[in-house]
Amino acid sequence: MWLLTILAIAAVIGIHLWWRRKFAALSGQRAAEIEASHRRQQQTNVDAKAQQQILFNSMIEGLLLLDRTQKIYLANRAFKNLFGLKIELRGKTILEALRLHELDDLVKRVQAEGQVFDYELKLPDLSERWLRVNAAVISNSAGEREGTILVFHDLTRLKQLERTREEFVANVSHELRTPLSLIKGYVETLLDGARNNPDVAERFLKIIERNTNRLDLLIQDLLTISALESGRIKLNLQPVELRQLAGKVFTDLHARAENKNVSLINELPELTASADANRLDQVFANLVDNAIKYGRASGAVKIGGKKLEDGRLEIFVRDDGPGIPPEALDRVFERFYRVDKARSRDQGGTGLGLSIVKHIVQAHGGEVRAESETGKGATFFFTLPESKMG
Ligand code: ADP
Repeated sequence: MWLLTILAIAAVIGIHLWWRRKFAALSGQRAAEIEASHRRQQQTNVDAKAQQQILFNSMIEGLLLLDRTQKIYLANRAFKNLFGLKIELRGKTILEALRLHELDDLVKRVQAEGQVFDYELKLPDLSERWLRVNAAVISNSAGEREGTILVFHDLTRLKQLERTREEFVANVSHELRTPLSLIKGYVETLLDGARNNPDVAERFLKIIERNTNRLDLLIQDLLTISALESGRIKLNLQPVELRQLAGKVFTDLHARAENKNVSLINELPELTASADANRLDQVFANLVDNAIKYGRASGAVKIGGKKLEDGRLEIFVRDDGPGIPPEALDRVFERFYRVDKARSRDQGGTGLGLSIVKHIVQAHGGEVRAESETGKGATFFFTLPESKMG
């Protein structure tokens, strides 16, 4: 009986202990599972956060997240670059971080209206910069406001292009209107009776002819510029003998030079460039024409050149006229830029010659520059690739 009782108690204790061990093992396993899952979750969170960070920082747009108290919660790399900021922004208000009242006002507007799209913000830097801002309030599923998101897009390049286009259209209209109104005026005067005086009529008709030629030249130059800028022109590259080409351009412009008693000197050695002969003809012609136009009467225009150490060919066109002031040396290659407007127009200039030269040289992979010492003439240099076949 005792034995039975003891056996029964031992069995109960054994079962209990077995259960305890089993339970302990089970709960240990469970705990480990829970911990592992927790760790996995944490790892996933870390990965997601890292991915989020990579994503935000690889965005071209600047991104700014504000928390519900309007303090900065996140600012991505593009945002910091746009505003030139290197400091930590988290926890700061917009005014503290950027001192931009306009942006602070925009955030207030977003709070009132829920969202603001296509807001154009001009940054008060020295270099004019424009941003487009899209902003909206972020709400959770319960409709409570969690913060504000602002996305910034750099509009500066677009604005610059827009302005260049507007300036170009304004310049072209002006350039066209000047000869046109002269033609119109003289035609009206002729019709009003001036045609009855043969001398006056001849003089007026010559003015009309000169201005129609100017219009023609301007339109030709405009078409060339537009074709060069849009990349529509395909270069027909061939070996071009530069000395020979300079000689041909001198012959073409011989009469103009003679009118001013200017001597044309070809000092180019035998060099063969890989170039489009017709386009290069235009480069030489524009530079020599300018040298005659703006050089001194009874002066000299020289073309020379050499092979540079890096294998490129460098050509120059030099005159001994009044030269170009230092501040205008780079600008003369801009469309319609002239040092002396009246002088250029008097000489029939369109203000596009050097811009065409620059485009053609660049299309050949070369560079162009001007050097001048006031009173001692101007020299235009440009480079071209050497022909490997020549
Ligand atoms: P333009 O039709 O007025 O000659 P360009 O583009 O050829 O236009 O030249 C721009 C300006 O550069 C000219 O108006 C002139 O003021 C200046 N320039 C060009 N070549 C010379 C030069 N050889 N000497 C002095 N000034 C020059």
